[in-house]
Amino acid sequence: MTVDYIILGQGLTGTFVSWNLIRAGKEVVVIDESKPFTASRVASGVVNPVTGRRIVRTWRIEELWPYAFEAYTTLGKELNAELVQSTSILDFHPSPQMKEAFEKRIEDEDEYLHKPVNADEWKQYFNYNYGFSCISPCLLIDLNTMLINWRQKLKNDNRLLEQRFDWSECKVSQDGIEYNSLTAQKLICCQGVAGFDNAWFKNLPFAKIKGEAVIASIPDLPRDRIYKQGINIVPWNKDLFWIGSSYEWSYNDVLPTAGFRKKVEEHLKHWLKIPFRIVDHFASERPATIERRPFVGLHPKYTSIGILDGMGTKGCSLAPFFASQLTEHLLEQKPLSAEVDIQRFKKILSAG
Ligand SMILES: Cc1cc2nc3c(=O)[nH]c(=O)nc-3n(C[C@H](O)[C@H](O)[C@H](O)COP(=O)(O)OP(=O)(O)OC[C@H]3O[C@@H](n4cnc5c(N)ncnc54)[C@H](O)[C@@H]3O)c2cc1C
Repeated sequence: MTVDYIILGQGLTGTFVSWNLIRAGKEVVVIDESKPFTASRVASGVVNPVTGRRIVRTWRIEELWPYAFEAYTTLGKELNAELVQSTSILDFHPSPQMKEAFEKRIEDEDEYLHKPVNADEWKQYFNYNYGFSCISPCLLIDLNTMLINWRQKLKNDNRLLEQRFDWSECKVSQDGIEYNSLTAQKLICCQGVAGFDNAWFKNLPFAKIKGEAVIASIPDLPRDRIYKQGINIVPWNKDLFWIGSSYEWSYNDVLPTAGFRKKVEEHLKHWLKIPFRIVDHFASERPATIERRPFVGLHPKYTSIGILDGMGTKGCSLAPFFASQLTEHLLEQKPLSAEVDIQRFKKILSAG
């Protein structure tokens, strides 16, 4: 079989690249081995426009936010699902210093940061002494529905190979790709952390970050907000909540730990005034990069192979935008943003 593109991976990145190329009329085959705890499957799906201790806007959020909203809405319509909702985060201050820092920032950042109308409003649900601020609008994406429904559509259209991609069966040349009985113009690698072991791109400065989360039942907690105090409580599917996460740069395995679960349980016991029950616990790795910018584009020496990876902690906002940039680059030779284009690593990639 001959196709235009083989897309390796169907996480957030592979979903958006394949969706864009198919919409542009290209013949696409997606290869994904269906692992249960990939980054996209365990992520909470939040797009928070202001983060960090300094509570500043995240990189390029003014472009990324509206683009993401539109992309998830349009893809959702195609998949008969509501994939995105605009919501707010109630950020409970852990100390008087944080309360002061927030209130100072609200003076300059009135688009995304707001003071609550009634600071005691949430006292029936939470213990808190230093008030809270609202971060709004932010987005909540239903990633699991998106991944499942898009996968099903690919399957129905005979565009999915559910298997592990075997590099020993893949021939990359200047003219194109041969993989078993498939031939294609290009192979686009959307592998998340597995991309770190891809021989063509292994020299890129990747950095993995482990993250754990628990799933809990909190029947009395309203489901129309996200709650934050060191950890996030995020509405999840089937009336449950996602609670996390950890950020670990050094670890021996990608398994859930008793230590994380205990820490979350203790935190919730102090913070929540209402009953909760932990029902699940998982861990995964975020495909981050040392300079905190994604890897997008075609290999400088072999242009039949390309990559969209390195989404780090912000795949929900970065993936739709840069999948679209990559598609326009492939189809119309439009330039990629210099900050993400892997041409910035031309030397090390050409040497590899
Ligand atoms: C705990 C946690 C919470 C997070 N929360 C958020 C959040 O709230 N908001 C946010 O924006 N981001 C969040 N993230 C980050 C986000 O999940 C990632 O940035 C994003 O999902 C990465 O998507 P991806 O497509 O690059 O990788 P992945 O989701 O890992 O997808 C890669 C796919 O490729 C497949 N694959 C790889 N190699 C092969 C092979 N050889 N053969 C076949 N298939 C292969 C894998 O099986 C997988 O399905 C979170 C991450 C974690 C771990």
